[in-house]
Amino acid sequence: MGYCREIQRKQLHDHHHQQHPIFIPYPVIIGAGPSGLATAACLKEKGIDSLVLERSNCIASLWTHSTYDRLHLHLPKKYCQLPLMPFPPKFPKYPSKQQFISYLESYANKFDIRPLFKETVVRAEFDRGVGLWRVRTRVREYACRWLVVSTGENAEAVVGPEINIEGIGRFKGSVMHTSLYKSGELFRGKRVLVVGCGNSGMEVCLDLCNFNACPTIVVRDRVHILPREMLGISTFGLSTWLLKWLPIRIVDRILLLLARFLLGDTALYGLQRPVLGPLEIKSVSGKTPVLDTGTLVKIKSGDIKVRPAIKRLTEDGAEFVDGRSESFDAVVLATGYKSNVSSWLKEREFFSEKDGLPRDPFPNGWKGENGLYAVGLTKRGLMGTSMDARRIANDIQQCWKNDAKRCML
Ligand SMILES: Cc1cc2nc3c(=O)[nH]c(=O)nc-3n(C[C@H](O)[C@H](O)[C@H](O)COP(=O)(O)OP(=O)(O)OC[C@H]3O[C@@H](n4cnc5c(N)ncnc54)[C@H](O)[C@@H]3O)c2cc1C
Repeated sequence: MGYCREIQRKQLHDHHHQQHPIFIPYPVIIGAGPSGLATAACLKEKGIDSLVLERSNCIASLWTHSTYDRLHLHLPKKYCQLPLMPFPPKFPKYPSKQQFISYLESYANKFDIRPLFKETVVRAEFDRGVGLWRVRTRVREYACRWLVVSTGENAEAVVGPEINIEGIGRFKGSVMHTSLYKSGELFRGKRVLVVGCGNSGMEVCLDLCNFNACPTIVVRDRVHILPREMLGISTFGLSTWLLKWLPIRIVDRILLLLARFLLGDTALYGLQRPVLGPLEIKSVSGKTPVLDTGTLVKIKSGDIKVRPAIKRLTEDGAEFVDGRSESFDAVVLATGYKSNVSSWLKEREFFSEKDGLPRDPFPNGWKGENGLYAVGLTKRGLMGTSMDARRIANDIQQCWKNDAKRCML
């Protein structure tokens, strides 16, 4: 494989003088987050090289550039490690963001994964004439037989018209998405409206409290809040174990009973639970329940206020659908993320144009036609990533072997 890399480096060097795409004789992986790295490592283990293209200037850019300082993995480390390399035993059960990034750096080093940085893929299309994928970045064009999409479910912040907040342009204070929020330091003593009550919104509120800001959280939809741990076991681990023996609805009932016992009735604080249970919702829509790390105590004590949907933002505050009006100094949009695949991949059978995710749900959304693959795009977190990466590497290895046999004949 070493010679392939040499050819590739030479081609990249010579490319300024060429007009044709650079042919890459092994898989091209788009995105150097955990999913891209895991796939490159699984391929490397099988002796197959890959070319990783990354738009940012580092690996794991989501974690490095777009997450808040206090972030820790939401799930215990054993459910978040990538294939072929466990977390160091000295890491805590819930590693910090810095620990996770250092783990990913060691991972890339161990498998000698060296992505090409600042290579944003702007278009990829299967060229039926030659039977290859053409992948165009802002810098150059590649042609390859296998294309692995690992650009993540969190590629772009949801901030545009889709969040549909009337008057957002009128508000005079600062407005930022959680991807730009680092800590509450900037907001000391300020009244901050946090829009959205997923894991990020809830955690940002807690962080704001810790920096003596006054957060108010907007809870537009019903939401399941579960303790991160139940009976000394992680809620995720307990659910996975119970699901081995019991149907999803019964497991949901057990979880909700325990949550009621441990957290009380969340509806009393403006956090109504949905009709379906937390695991059932996850399985039908991919929406994850909030795992509480201390925010609920602050809601109960009144340090964090809860408000229903926003009717409109005004110059200095917000009007809510319950008729209340309040002043705020800043707005933090915890409105989530979306995939960007539909904007650059010219393929509509495997990927849905609507949300840029594979049409087939987990565990099937990893393999398309003509050597197209997806990793980490089926709303199953890092565990899903590991499963997809192993499958993809096995599949490509099989094709590789079949090709080699054909060449021998
Ligand atoms: C705050 C937060 C906490 C989380 N905690 C957990 C957790 O505890 N456990 C868990 O299992 N999951 C967690 N997740 C889910 C998260 O999606 C995964 O942890 C993980 O980052 C997904 O890895 P990925 O490689 O699929 O995507 P990403 O980490 O988003 O990586 C995708 C990469 O692709 C690059 N890219 C995007 N578009 C292009 C393009 N056009 N061209 C070139 N490169 C491109 C991006 O720059 C990025 O580096 C969390 C997510 C967030 C936001």
